[in-house]
Amino acid sequence: MEKKQFQAESKRLLEMMINSIYSQKEIFLRELISNSSDAIDKIYYKALTDDSLSFNKDDYYIKIEANKEKRTLTISDTGIGMTKEELENNLGIIAKSGSLAFKNENEMKNGQEIIGQFGVGFYSAFMVADVVTVFTKALGSNQAYKWESQGADGYTIEPCEKELVGTEIILKLKENTDDDSFDEYLEEFRLKAIIKKYSDFIRYPIKMTVSTTKPQENNESEMETVIEEQIINSMVPIWRKNKNELSDKDYENFYQEKHFGFDKPIKHIHISVDGAVRYNAILFIPEQIPYDYYSKEFEKGLELYSNGVLIMEKCSDLLPDYFSFVKGIVDSEDLSLNISREILQHDRQLKLIAKNIKNKIKNQLQTLLKDDRDKFETFFKSFGRQLKYGVYSDFGSNKETLQDLLMFYSSKEKKLVTLDEYVLRMPEDQKYIYYATGESYDRIEKLPQTEVVIDKGYEILYFTDEVDEFAIRMLNEYKEKEFRSVSSGDLGFEDNQQASDTKINEETKELFEYMQEILSDKVKAVRVSKRLKTHPVCLSTDGDVSIEMEKILKSMPNNEHIKADKILEINIDHPVYLSLKNAFENDRDKVALFTGLLYNQALLIEGLPIQDPVEFTNDICKIMV
Ligand code: ADP
Repeated sequence: MEKKQFQAESKRLLEMMINSIYSQKEIFLRELISNSSDAIDKIYYKALTDDSLSFNKDDYYIKIEANKEKRTLTISDTGIGMTKEELENNLGIIAKSGSLAFKNENEMKNGQEIIGQFGVGFYSAFMVADVVTVFTKALGSNQAYKWESQGADGYTIEPCEKELVGTEIILKLKENTDDDSFDEYLEEFRLKAIIKKYSDFIRYPIKMTVSTTKPQENNESEMETVIEEQIINSMVPIWRKNKNELSDKDYENFYQEKHFGFDKPIKHIHISVDGAVRYNAILFIPEQIPYDYYSKEFEKGLELYSNGVLIMEKCSDLLPDYFSFVKGIVDSEDLSLNISREILQHDRQLKLIAKNIKNKIKNQLQTLLKDDRDKFETFFKSFGRQLKYGVYSDFGSNKETLQDLLMFYSSKEKKLVTLDEYVLRMPEDQKYIYYATGESYDRIEKLPQTEVVIDKGYEILYFTDEVDEFAIRMLNEYKEKEFRSVSSGDLGFEDNQQASDTKINEETKELFEYMQEILSDKVKAVRVSKRLKTHPVCLSTDGDVSIEMEKILKSMPNNEHIKADKILEINIDHPVYLSLKNAFENDRDKVALFTGLLYNQALLIEGLPIQDPVEFTNDICKIMV
């Protein structure tokens, strides 16, 4: 019998499979089952147009059989089969011609890239088998053929006996190595798990003979082991089922089965779209933050299926970063099974799906906020920070999408409120949306800068996350109301401005200039405070960088030069101001002492470190004795 050579490119791919160190060798089963399913599809579609053919559902199935003695695994189907020519053309010549062409040598070395990116169809059998034998009989043909190959040196084809139309592929499994155990592909539980994992939703039954323990028929209290043929796959994916048929529990089970998380999802979103792009999806919003969520290790993505066959476990292109917490699956008939990652990224269908999904998630979150405030708050406490990052990143291009989902702690309500709620209850004379930053709600509550705003009866949003102020700066305004820090130079109170301006006389000016000289490398100016009521001193800022932002930016590399333009504000209605004035007239050293003390106090209030704590305590002692 003549041995035929593989076409050059096929040979290369085959060699790669044989020597593969790819860790996910189990996918060979997915590939072979998917081929079988396609082959049955072909009969099914033929029957739709050919009256002489009938498609009786029970006649079509895929069968998996393991034989431990012979170390063989057989995958058979009752699909359309192959003629001799088809065998030659389909298995001798690589179908995905060109897929290797643009791979460089380096990537080719172990096939990792190729397998991961393309899926490799039939040839993946050579990752686990050193002999592959195919028996096949094409629909409408009387003669069956046997194709066999032991690898890259070629293959043989000869006529054979086969009763049923369809294809049977026998894999003679490789011997175990130190790195790989091929025995596992003979184990019932392992095969079941692989089928469940990748091919659960194949439309045709995948049968396997399994042993189960059951109560005896005539004596229910005794168990017996029964060998029986079972259908391993569930066939109808939950996402193709009608929403009305499914309970919350069904979705929850699915969430757990898929290991999306150990928590109970806050919400599931079941989508069936049949428009410009067709897809089904089930998405989940988890309740708890995955332990690695806010770390570099976290990988976002949805499971992607092409017509029931898993093609990617984490398709990151389906989710924007700000919704990276969403888990779930997407199944579309419009995607090809062996689509590569690079091509997928640019795939028009996939982009449409991603856009659609993004909108659905947003709408569902908004509905949750409206209908189930408690649940939304639970969600926000876990993932709100991610939404705020979303507002800030990409130069604010997603702020419109996200702004209505933001929540901040309110000085008035003592709980989380939305920007919309804030703006709705703003008094008419209030110009800005006020916020204050700090380490905790308690600390912000005590900030001297908040006093005058609170006194006016205005609400303040408390920012405790590092990203808060950055996100808000990116927003700039909400419903035409600008944001303003309670520490910013201008609070927008007209009346207050005039009142304090009149109080500033020449002497005060001179005093403040003198103090500013003392603090010349620390503050830009010393000014009369328009915001302090009972406290003597505080810091505020001019310009774009706030004190909080300076703190955060300075903790990042290459940002040492970043500085907030600090202003030392003095409350001239406070008795301390009188002492300052007295000292200015009688004892300039004392002015220096007081100035240093006041500045350091202002730093402490802001939660900033004092440059020289020893000097500070000594200075306090000086005024005590
Ligand atoms: P792909 O499935 O991406 O086309 P494969 O290398 O897996 O690539 O298979 C090549 C071809 O061989 C298939 O397109 C199909 O025509 C044929 N084939 C493979 N397996 C079967 C099967 N079980 N029954 C019928 N034809 C098959």
